[in-house]
Amino acid sequence: MWINKTIFPAFTLLAKIFRTMMNPEFESPEMQREYEWMKSERQMHELYQIGIEKILNKEQAESLFENGESCLCCIDEGTDNGLFRVPGSAILLSEEERESLIDRLQAMGIKGVRSHEGCGAAEKYCKDNNITDKSIDEVAIEKAKELAERLHVPYFGHSEKISRPKEFHFARVVYYDGTGQFNQAASKDHLPPGFVVSRRFLHNLDENDQTENQYKPAIDSTKLAIQIALGEHGFGKKITEHKPLLLVGLGDPLDSMFNMDAMRRELQDIVENIAKTDPDIVKRLRIDVANAPTEHTRN
Ligand SMILES: [Zn+2]
Repeated sequence: MWINKTIFPAFTLLAKIFRTMMNPEFESPEMQREYEWMKSERQMHELYQIGIEKILNKEQAESLFENGESCLCCIDEGTDNGLFRVPGSAILLSEEERESLIDRLQAMGIKGVRSHEGCGAAEKYCKDNNITDKSIDEVAIEKAKELAERLHVPYFGHSEKISRPKEFHFARVVYYDGTGQFNQAASKDHLPPGFVVSRRFLHNLDENDQTENQYKPAIDSTKLAIQIALGEHGFGKKITEHKPLLLVGLGDPLDSMFNMDAMRRELQDIVENIAKTDPDIVKRLRIDVANAPTEHTRN
């Protein structure tokens, strides 16, 4: 009888662990948060220890800059497709900034626009504009369709399945992409989950102004991503001085405006700017930069 008493509970426990691994169900949002945090610990540890440059030097890392879909989507880490990443598919941009983005995306051969369910940027847009007669999803869809029309490309649809828990963001990195080629979907086996800000397309080429005004939408998008990751919709207080949020600049070595040194300078400016109002937040941020493999840069 001891066999039954010993083995049966052990077997039940093993079955439960296996079930949880295959299809995790969580008793509380806190447990799920803990689970997702642990899941990204190995990759974060590697990134903290050896840095983005060494990770990108690995042979298979070249695939991170290949085959991305030429589509406009959100910076959200749960939306996998799309090379052109701006919060809420550009819903928060001013008319002037949107026009500039349209020119850049058309020059880059954009093929379509996507929106997604539970978009924080669309929520912010509704709040900022006091929109109460429509749902956030309706507004996200409407604005993405409108932009697709202006770009003369198809609207690819509203992604209802996002690859993060619906309740919160599990981003531990903000990828600041100066290459315009970073394929977030392909990065999952190599890098921790993170927001992707398409720095490459977020600037005004006509502008003579050489100051940060030239890439203000990239600054705003990065600040928004930091705010979400460190706030109650992200990992929040779990991100500390010892386990900081990484701002990872991805540079194009062939273009001095977008190489790793330029990306580092811009990220430093953003951090210094935040330090003026929130010095405590800055302690929980760390910058790391690297150039993409040369054969995968934009011309
Ligand atoms: Zn979004």
